[in-house]
Amino acid sequence: MKFTDFGFHDSLMEGIFSSGWEEATPVQEQVIPHILSGRDIIASAQTGTGKTGAFLLPILQRLLAEPSPDHHINALIIVPTRELAVQISHQLDGLTYFTDIGSIAVYGGGDGNTFVQEKAALSRGADIVVATPGKLISHINMGYVKLGELFYLILDEADRMLDMGFHDDIMRIIGQIPAKRQTLLFSATMPPRIRSLAQKILREPIEVNIAISKPPERIRQELFVIYEPQKNPLVKRLLKDSPFRSILVFCSRKQSAKQLTRELKRAGFHAEDIHSDLSQSQREEVLRQFASKQLPILVATDILSRGIDIDQIELVINYDVPHDGEDYVHRIGRTARAETDGTAYTFVTDKEMRQMAQIERLIGREIPRTPIPPELGPTPGNDPTPRGPHRPGSRPAGHGRTGHSRHGRPPAGPQGRGRHEKKGGAPRRGPSPSGV
Ligand code: AMP
Repeated sequence: MKFTDFGFHDSLMEGIFSSGWEEATPVQEQVIPHILSGRDIIASAQTGTGKTGAFLLPILQRLLAEPSPDHHINALIIVPTRELAVQISHQLDGLTYFTDIGSIAVYGGGDGNTFVQEKAALSRGADIVVATPGKLISHINMGYVKLGELFYLILDEADRMLDMGFHDDIMRIIGQIPAKRQTLLFSATMPPRIRSLAQKILREPIEVNIAISKPPERIRQELFVIYEPQKNPLVKRLLKDSPFRSILVFCSRKQSAKQLTRELKRAGFHAEDIHSDLSQSQREEVLRQFASKQLPILVATDILSRGIDIDQIELVINYDVPHDGEDYVHRIGRTARAETDGTAYTFVTDKEMRQMAQIERLIGREIPRTPIPPELGPTPGNDPTPRGPHRPGSRPAGHGRTGHSRHGRPPAGPQGRGRHEKKGGAPRRGPSPSGV
């Protein structure tokens, strides 16, 4: 579903596009229309599904469309940790950049100065406050936090907040908020404690479940962090002397599929490609050969990733990082069917590290990195040349998620707090370079 289908305000659409978002994720598609129509929500959705956008976008739209009282807090997002508060603030910065909506983040761990800044910002009011419970209570106790006109209340990662012992703090905060409000509760899991919290604070909520499939445990997954020109030599190298008899390679571009197939054939492999340039009957013939195991290597473009229903593929190679976690799970799920074990290799260039980290978050595990044979040259993780890790703008790669995880991002710092208060007319910065 395209974002243009939701009827968002132009200034919000600009923020969405400059954040690099083109299509709504499943949780966004399911949740946004209900929030726009004013319903309470209880949603089970994990990090990585786009859940933050699912509640931010409709609330931003409503704040833009409906006048809200000045010098008050209009929306409150309560989160368990400082890291999550920072991440949400980053997304808010990107999405609200072309609007006059102001937000502030209030979380623990700052010094006396940040407390003073937060106090000033909270006293003035803000459209949106993102806060951890303990820190917000400290401010509420001082008497200047104006929650009396608050309409939108969001609890994010509610299960984690209860695990961290925030139940009473949350109830105290909610005690200050008018009963006439819209409440949204997001939680990765739905244990009974969450259900009973939901019963206390939500009104006839719509329930949304975004189940994330995980790849079967028995699939052996490996990542190869490499440069683009190393991909074809590495495929050839991996297939040489390989024990696999049925191999599916996914490329995101037709051109790479064709080129790789040409090179494989030249090197003596029995391989064919399948993509949109072939006629329907040609595609069917190639698939028939592959399914009957006459053809051992099939190089396919993305269009086929969901359509190929062939059992006993032994190896899947993701020549490019799949678009999202669901695609990844779907593709590697082509192996390890019917109780057989499977192997999945994924090539990751330095530009794709971030996308891969997102997939790893979604499937809830870090996939082991496998070094490539030294004769294929230096890789992004160990390249001493100028194209290597030290060139400006590149990130180190090849060792886990260090350097590209959102969780590793530095906190917003003082400039991330209080600077977006609408009423104060504070200067704005551009969206963060990461494009959130
Ligand atoms: P979340 O699950 O909210 O933590 O979001 C995970 C990541 O997905 C964040 O980096 C968001 O910027 C990104 N994201 C959220 N919605 C979209 C979308 N519709 N298209 C592309 N990326 C998105």
